[in-house]
Amino acid sequence: MSNENKTDTPANSTASVNPTANWEKGTICIQAGFTPSVGGPRVLPIFQSTTYKYEDLDQVERLFALKETGYKYTRTGNPTVAAFEQKVTLLEGGVGAVALASGQAATLLSVLNLCKSGDHIVSAATVYGGSYTLFGHTLKKYGIEVTFIDPEDPQSTLEKAFQPNTKVLFAETLGNPGLAILDFAKFASLAKKFDVPFIVDNTLATPYLCNPFKLGANIVIHSATKYIDGHATSLGGVVIDGGNYNWSNGKFPELTEPDPSYHGFRYVEIFKNAAYIAKARAQYLRDFGACLSPFNAFMLNLGLETLHLRMAQHSKNALALAAFLQKHPQVAWVIYPGLPENPSYERIGKYFLQNEASGVLTFGLKGDRKAARTFVKSLKVAALVVHIGDARTSVLHPATSTHSQMTVEEQLSAGITPDMIRVSVGIEDAKDILADFDQALKSIQA
Ligand SMILES: *Cc1c(COP(=O)(O)O)cnc(C)c1O
Repeated sequence: MSNENKTDTPANSTASVNPTANWEKGTICIQAGFTPSVGGPRVLPIFQSTTYKYEDLDQVERLFALKETGYKYTRTGNPTVAAFEQKVTLLEGGVGAVALASGQAATLLSVLNLCKSGDHIVSAATVYGGSYTLFGHTLKKYGIEVTFIDPEDPQSTLEKAFQPNTKVLFAETLGNPGLAILDFAKFASLAKKFDVPFIVDNTLATPYLCNPFKLGANIVIHSATKYIDGHATSLGGVVIDGGNYNWSNGKFPELTEPDPSYHGFRYVEIFKNAAYIAKARAQYLRDFGACLSPFNAFMLNLGLETLHLRMAQHSKNALALAAFLQKHPQVAWVIYPGLPENPSYERIGKYFLQNEASGVLTFGLKGDRKAARTFVKSLKVAALVVHIGDARTSVLHPATSTHSQMTVEEQLSAGITPDMIRVSVGIEDAKDILADFDQALKSIQA
């Protein structure tokens, strides 16, 4: 293996040491993160090993003191996992990443790396349900308060949510199932004005369609379970550090003062602009243990190899299905940001790297819950599953599944109507997807 993959210390898993940093996205997707040696395996191997062998006690001492780079134990670093982390770092244009067991673990770690009891988060109310319950219920029990905001409110209204103890601004590039693209200019301006790190969940857009670091984000997270994996095989998450926040502004002493749990290191002093991700690994991969397994890292890396091709096809098929549904007599409404009349449409041109809008859309069936039942049961190409981002087309009825714990009133205020069907459009032939929806829609009338 090349030197760049021999380490689990963030100082040495930064993008700057990788000679492939100027590659285009498709090449990074396929080849970055792992450099085959002559006579060695062409494909990233699964290093299914918890442990690593050392020369002598001196070497181990140097490793633990971070004076030498190398792996210690797979909870805090593994060569297969590191290759995945490096590839994602390059795709997002960050300075380092930590891979985790799930997207939820990534959200938790991204926030806890900055917040402790007594701190406050400002979060878009439109975030993923798991992020909403984590912030609104679970973190509250640990003394971290949240103010949820409507991301479409004017800046003057949103400014009122910030407090002197606000340590994080959190939002998603493309919320779900609302499917609005974030007003990055407004959020970046809020983050700057209050000098608060801006964390963006980029799961639905993927680093192929959007790079939030270029739009003012400081930390990006992903549920790699969705489009990064792309085949519904593996859970995973990742936190990426943009290296673009000044941690020495007095608000984050844990990054600038000695860490009594780790040799008294001062992260900013040692790791410079990769201090955040170094701390995340040194403290929280170590203490929480929500690490990505080498096998799942292999699967996620394999998924990334076709991310650029899949996202183009997901987007193309979703646009075709959205246009088809719009004209269908059984359909009341369609929400897809790739439709020119959608309120988010102009933000694609502004913030997205391709003229593509990802693969998730929602639509309203004419009729009641019974119509939804009949429609879903009649689908043959698409399947009813609780997931998005799969190569296979999937549908979900949010009112009876993901949002069923809410009252009807709560559902409506979250934009969940009883007629709403969410579709994660796959990469099958569009003709077959459209024909499947057509026959299932016709079955409602029968
Ligand atoms: C699924 C999802 C998560 C949570 O990820 P898991 O891998 O399921 O833990 C977080 N954010 C978004 C936007 C998601 O879609």
